[in-house]
Amino acid sequence: MIEIEGSYGEGGGQIVRTAVALSAVTGKAVEINNIRKNRPKPGLKAQHLVSLKTAAWLCKAQVSGLMLGSTELSFSPVEIEGGDLEVDIGTAGSITLLLQGLMPALPFAKKEVQLRIRGGTDVAWAPSIDYLQQVTLKALRKMGYGCELELQKRGYYPKGGGVVTATFKPCKLKSFHFLREEKREEGKIFGISHSSNLPSHVAERQAEAAKASLFKAGFSSKIKSESSNFFSTGSGISLWTGFFGGTALGKPGLLAEKVGCKAAKEILPELKSKASVDVYLADQLIPYMALAGESSYTVRKLSQHTKTNIWVTEQFLDVKFRIKKTEKGFEVSVD
Ligand code: ATP
Repeated sequence: MIEIEGSYGEGGGQIVRTAVALSAVTGKAVEINNIRKNRPKPGLKAQHLVSLKTAAWLCKAQVSGLMLGSTELSFSPVEIEGGDLEVDIGTAGSITLLLQGLMPALPFAKKEVQLRIRGGTDVAWAPSIDYLQQVTLKALRKMGYGCELELQKRGYYPKGGGVVTATFKPCKLKSFHFLREEKREEGKIFGISHSSNLPSHVAERQAEAAKASLFKAGFSSKIKSESSNFFSTGSGISLWTGFFGGTALGKPGLLAEKVGCKAAKEILPELKSKASVDVYLADQLIPYMALAGESSYTVRKLSQHTKTNIWVTEQFLDVKFRIKKTEKGFEVSVD
C-alpha cells in the first residue's frame, strides 16, 4: 500500500488523478490523505468523484472514501480490463480533467476502451478540449499513445452538456525527446474561436483580436470561427502550434476582443521562449515520460504542478527525474 500526502506541493486534484492512474498501472493499492487540504473547500469535488468512479470501473478497484468533501481515500485496483462506458459528469465538470485521471492507465488495458463523456469541454482551470486534442494528444502520439478523440458538442460553465467520445487502444509507450525544432516546422499558429447561443460576431471578434495581437508580436495565424447552439451558453478560443497552447474563455461583461487578446497573451511567452513544451504540457507529460523511460523536454518555467507530479510519479515507479537549469529554462528528463 502506497501512502500519498494529498497536501504535498501543489496539493490539488491532480495528485489524486496521477496517484490513482499510476495505482491502476502498477497494481499497487494507494491511500491518499489530506486531499485538497488547503483549498477553500477541501476534499473531493463532484468532478473528482466521477473521475474516481470511472477509474474504479476501469480496473475493477475497491475504493473507500468516495464522498463529496472526503479528504481521505483508498484505491485497490485489480486489473485494467477495458470496454465501453458512458460517463456523465453532471454539470460543467471538466471532461479533460476526467480524462487526465484515466489516460496514463489506458495503454495498459487488456482491450480497447471507448468512452462517451458528458460535461464541460471549455471550462476554467482545465485544459480546453482543443488543447487536449491539439497539444497534449499531439505530444502523446509522439510517445506511441493511441487515442482518437471526437468533440460532439461543446459544454460551457455552468450548464455543461458538452459531449466527447474517445477511443483508446492498448499500446506500448516509447521514449521521446521533445525538441524545439518541432515548433519551428509548424511556423504558423492555429486556432479555433467558438461560441454557443451568442451572436456569431462574438467568435469572429475573438479570432480577429487574437490574430491582431499575434501579428503585432510577429506571428502569423490561422484561426477558425465557429458559432453554434448547444445546450449551454458561452464562448472561448484556443490557439496552438507545436507543443504550445493558449486558451481564454468568455464571460458575461467581458469584451470578445479581450478574450482573443488573453489567449494570445497566454501563448506568446511560450513562443518567445526557447523551450520545447509549454508550462501546462510540462506537468501533464510527467507520468507518460516515467512509463516510457528515456524522455526529456525543456520548459521556460517549472510549475508547482510539474514538481508535484514528479513527486507523485516517483512514489509509484522506480524512476528518478532530473531537472537542470539551462539557458532555455529548465530541462526535465528521466532515464
Ligand atoms: P484543484 O481545484 O484542487 O486545484 P483541480 O482538480 O481542479 O485541482 P489541478 O490540480 O489544478 O486541478 O490541475 C489542473 C490541470 O489542468 C493541470 O494538469 C494543468 O496543466 C491543466 N491546465 C489548467 N489550465 C490549463 C490551460 N489553460 N491550458 C492547459 N492546461 C491547463
